[in-house]
This record gives sequence, structure tokens and C-alpha cells, in this order.
Amino acid sequence: AHYDYWDDKVRPSVLLESGADLLMYGMGEHQITELSERLANGENIHNIHDIRGTCYLTEPVNTPIGCAECPSFEQVSQNKEAYARATKIQYDHQDEIYGKTVIQRHGKLMLVQNPPAYSLTQEELDKIYSLPYTRNYHPSYEKFGGVPGIEEVKFSITHNRGCFGYCNFCSIALHQGRRITCRSEKSVLEEAERLTHMPDFKGYIHDVGGPTANFRNPSCEKQLKSGLCKGKKCLAPTPCKALKVDHSEYLDMLRKIRKIKGVKRVFIRSGIRYDYLMEDKNDEFIRELIKYHVSGQLKVAPEHCSAVVLDKMGKPHIEAYKAFQKRFYEITKGIGKEQYLVPYLMSSHPGSTLREAVDLALFLRDNKIRPEQVQDFYPTPGTISTCMFYTGLDPYTMEKVYVPKTAEEKAMQRALLQYFRPQNREIVRKALIKAGRRDLIGVLIPADTNSVRKGDSDWQKNQRKQNQKPKKKANRNRQK
Ligand code: SF4
Repeated sequence: AHYDYWDDKVRPSVLLESGADLLMYGMGEHQITELSERLANGENIHNIHDIRGTCYLTEPVNTPIGCAECPSFEQVSQNKEAYARATKIQYDHQDEIYGKTVIQRHGKLMLVQNPPAYSLTQEELDKIYSLPYTRNYHPSYEKFGGVPGIEEVKFSITHNRGCFGYCNFCSIALHQGRRITCRSEKSVLEEAERLTHMPDFKGYIHDVGGPTANFRNPSCEKQLKSGLCKGKKCLAPTPCKALKVDHSEYLDMLRKIRKIKGVKRVFIRSGIRYDYLMEDKNDEFIRELIKYHVSGQLKVAPEHCSAVVLDKMGKPHIEAYKAFQKRFYEITKGIGKEQYLVPYLMSSHPGSTLREAVDLALFLRDNKIRPEQVQDFYPTPGTISTCMFYTGLDPYTMEKVYVPKTAEEKAMQRALLQYFRPQNREIVRKALIKAGRRDLIGVLIPADTNSVRKGDSDWQKNQRKQNQKPKKKANRNRQK
């Protein structure tokens, strides 16, 4: 069962609502090949209940033994604590080594989720990437003028899968897993070579990345035998002592791609985990990243500056970003380049009160960051952050979490991230008053927000005119 934001309610398993016989989750390659072989051999779909990475519904008497049982659909849809407990149980069993079968009663039926499929081996991954993809959109899109941004996708290379970053608002851990698997260098180089023979290749490889560009190895040795730690993150709030940091293979691969005939530039546009990067004692990777692989702007995702919010996001504290920012600009300056960091930021994540949003506005001002785009938190099905949004509880501690939910507060938190925009002044002023920070009127926004200024939008001008119109009540007061 999962929380659906659009309906603002808990919905039962997709299996129940769709009437499907079997549901595959994860990346699906193992499941789909095994299922099709078994169906081709005449097995009945209703008897195929043992494929990892699949879910099915059954009579409760047929439930396998030794499962982890979540509170039922009926319980989680009526009781938020039960929903939070169910979320934790599901997350704790997403590991391909120790994950158990998870079950959840739905009325008279039992939903059974088999443990996740095993990750593909490097050979299997290489085989998939050697298939003759067209690297283009379906011809049916031609009549709509094609697909914007196809160039970037067409000339980008995926070298890895999985992410041990494990941010609470992200669903990658649920479908790709936290364990890193990667293609061989040979397979990646062959793909790069193939790109150079495409008729419209202009010499630019737009990305050599994946869910996190600079992960090519598992985060530690122990996970290969015992799986990734339950309820503990490899990088947040601080890097685990067992973390193995190594960029050497990725670096070598990038060097070789740069040398391929016909390749002018190789960019990295997938997210870089800068906290992982800063743990590398060898600075060759950061130097070459900045020198060769940034196309003017490097996008990174600190997401917030408040430790309270970052803890709820499962992200490292802002000091890690500050250290990276300092190093980035030192190296950039040293090589005489003009290029910038573009930080991704998120407003209204669970844990963020108006006070934290004001702190973020001040952080942006102090660091001379003026984000062009900001992302407002919306709950993706199944994530830990979504559980916090719906229940107001952290499923790992069962502590209460503040959740900004009203349209007004979400708009205020969002506007605070772009406090410098004239059209946001009025709402920022209201937010500052509400947050008890009148002292910042005149600091983040001009003290007098009513006079029309250069750069004001039409909306802002109208707002000012309206503010300047004497209100009836005020007149009555004066007459008295
Ligand atoms: S020991 Fe540390 S690095 Fe390894 S899985 Fe656990 S948290 Fe991650």
C-alpha cells in the first residue's frame, strides 16, 4: 500500500487495483527473462510465485513462512503510525543479501513481495549496453517536432547503476538498489567509440554518469557479504568510517574517452556526490573534473543548509558543501577558467519550518547564490520523505516531524529561496513577519516594498498600487 499525493490517501497495492497477475519491481531484466522463459515452457502464471523482484496476491493460507509482515492495508490507511512502521519494514528488506519476503494483508488477500532481484553482474550489464539501440526517440514523435533535449541523451553514456547515497526523498534505492554495479571500462569505451561514428556527432559527449556520476565501487567491503547497513547511511550525516573512496578507475576511463579520435569534450552532467569526492585523499579526480568535465556550470545538490532539514533528507550537513565550494573555486581560479557551481535546493521538505527557510535565504545571500530554479518538495510514492509528509513521523525514530503543507506556507518557503526577485518581495515580507524575523525586512528585501522600483513586474506594480489604496477600515479609524 502506498500514499498517493494526488488523491491524498493511502491506496492499496497496484496489483489489487489493476487486476494484474504479477507485478515486477526494480530494473526488471532478471524477472522478465525468467518469467518469459517459464511462460514459454507452459507454466501457469498463477503458479509462478518464486521469482525475486516480483509481487503477487494470494490466499493468506498460502503465505510463505519467515516473512516480514507490514501492518495491513486497512491499518495503514487508517493509522499513521502503522503506515510509518510499514515504511520502515519495507525499506529494511530492500537489500538483495538479507532482504526477506515482505507481506501485507489486503482484506481477504495477502500481498506477497518477494526479495529484490540480484544486481546484474558486470558481464550482464555490458551485454545489455551492447544491444543495438537506436539512441533516438520513436519516429511517432516526428510529427510533434521531435523530443527536446534528445541531443544530450543521445550522446550520453551510463556507466553505473545503484546509489548508496540513499537520500530520503529519492526512490533510486527502491528500484536500482543501494549497491553499485558498473559496466566494464571496455564496454564504456566501445560505446564512446560508437558515438563518434554517428552522423550527427559533433565531438561532445554530454555525460558519463548514472544515478551518481562518481560512484563506481561498492561503498565498503563488508556489504558484498552482508549487505548494506539497515537504517544507516554511508555518507550522512557524516561519511561512515568503513567507506572506501576511490575515483581511480573512473578517472582512467574518462582519460581514455578524452583520447578517442573525434571526441572534443567529455562532460559530466549527472550528479556528483561532492561529500564522497571530498573524502578522496588523492585530488587528481577533482582537478581533472574541474579542468576537463565541466561545461561552464557544475550542478550539485546540497538541497538545504539547515542541519535539521538535511537530517530529515538524509543528506550531509552544509559544511561538506562549503568545503567543496571552496575547493571548486580555488581550482577553477588556479586554471584561469570561468565556471560556476549551480546548487540544487529544495523548499518545504518535511522538517523545514519557515525559520529554516529563512536560514536558507540568508545562506544564499551570504554565499552570493541566486538560484534560477528551485524545487518544491512533492512526495514521490514509497519514499521515506513521503512517509514523513503523510504521517508527520520519522519512520526510523517515530519522532514527530514538522510538515509544511498549506499552499500559503509552501509558496512562502519557495519564495524565500528567490527572495531577490522583485515579484517575491511581498510574499517574502509576509513570511519574514510570520517567522518572527521583521529584522530582515530591509536586509533580504527593501524596507519599503510599496514604492515602484526598476525591474518590478506588472504583478508587483499592481500589488504596490493595491497596498497604497487607503483601506476602508483605516479611514473609519482616522475619522474617529
Ligand atoms: S558499513 Fe558504512 S559504508 Fe558499509 S554499508 Fe554500512 S554505512 Fe555503508
